[in-house]
Amino acid sequence: MPTYEYECGSCHFRFERKQRFDAKPVAVCPKCRGKAKRVFHSNPVIFKGSGFYTTDSRKGVPEPGEGKKELPGGKKGKK
Ligand SMILES: [Zn+2]
Repeated sequence: MPTYEYECGSCHFRFERKQRFDAKPVAVCPKCRGKAKRVFHSNPVIFKGSGFYTTDSRKGVPEPGEGKKELPGGKKGKK
């Protein structure tokens, strides 16, 4: 599961949450129980450096989306 960063809208406390991809981008602040919103970074950390898109080192790399493969150039022509 990816880790997302949140910032509280009330006290601006920052914390991290492990959530699913399809989870709502909201969380409850552990400090004041206020509503926290997900902080988006310009650099996504989710697939960072895992060799996810590297074709020669696919062994042991877990696929997050079951049955859903998105290899570059894998499916073209059909849509
Ligand atoms: Zn708060």
